[in-house]
Amino acid sequence: MHPFDYQRAEDGKSAIAAVSQDADARYLAGGTTLIDLMKLDVETPTRVVDITRLPLTRVAELPGGGVRVGALVKNSDMAAHPLIAKRYPVISEAILAGASPQLRNMATTGGNLLQRTRCYYFRDTAMPCNKRVPGSGCSAIEGFNRIHAVLGTSKNCIATHPSDMCVALAAMDAVVQVQGPNGPRAIKFTDFHLLPGDHPERETVLQPGELITAVDIPSLPWATNSRYLKVRDRASFAFALASAAVALDLDNGIIKDARVALGGVGTKPWRSYEAEKALVGKPAGRETYRAAAEAALADATPYEHNGFKIELAKRTLVRALGTVG
Ligand code: SF4
Repeated sequence: MHPFDYQRAEDGKSAIAAVSQDADARYLAGGTTLIDLMKLDVETPTRVVDITRLPLTRVAELPGGGVRVGALVKNSDMAAHPLIAKRYPVISEAILAGASPQLRNMATTGGNLLQRTRCYYFRDTAMPCNKRVPGSGCSAIEGFNRIHAVLGTSKNCIATHPSDMCVALAAMDAVVQVQGPNGPRAIKFTDFHLLPGDHPERETVLQPGELITAVDIPSLPWATNSRYLKVRDRASFAFALASAAVALDLDNGIIKDARVALGGVGTKPWRSYEAEKALVGKPAGRETYRAAAEAALADATPYEHNGFKIELAKRTLVRALGTVG
């Protein structure tokens, strides 16, 4: 591990000032991604700014019925909070499907949004990786790519986004609240993560020094009928091969409205408006769900070892929809 300076921030302003003035500084919250990657020399900050004392630990109701989750709320606390568990079961289920209890007790809401990929080559500094060292090449495209993405890939990177929680937040139209050197701003969740394109090293729209302060989840009364289904190599402590976050608004067996997002298959949390279009106005049932799954994966590109994910994701989505409709 490289040596680094440690600084504990007493307030948001000083934290933002410290990180915005130093391109090699990083915010430290739960540390469940950053410390791992520092041990591997994948992340080599010269300074870490500990934000764990900032007052960002509340879950509160918003006017209009939505919920604001502070950036430092632990994943386990968010999953168990009645406002989340009752109104948005898909979010609680997604969080509880991720990592292990110990990690969920440390990991934070803001940190979950900034998880780095589990691509093996990204985590191995001996291997070329455009995300870690821009311009060095992608070892996965011609390498072993069983866990990699089939949606949103580019010729420079095919890494999946690893989060479960983010898939549910994409389906719920969440909004990311950030504070930066130039003031606050709100970012639509589906705009927050970037496709790899020509710059896989850029993963979010955050500007230098910007700090996530909260995630807002808008009111969606029918989200009580929602579900997260995750398929993985073992029953716990494994990343998704395919997952689906779904919610259906039903009226006498007809789908009035739908939300669909996929995990484990996209280079970012993958909201599927195509699947939603295929569902709305149709009778709830297997035929409709299969049509939605075909629409969701229509643009998928398989690589040598991950072609199985396309059918797996379709079946995961059909099965998830069957649990809410
Ligand atoms: Fe790096 Fe992305 Fe290629 Fe993995 S898929 S080796 S993260 S560039």
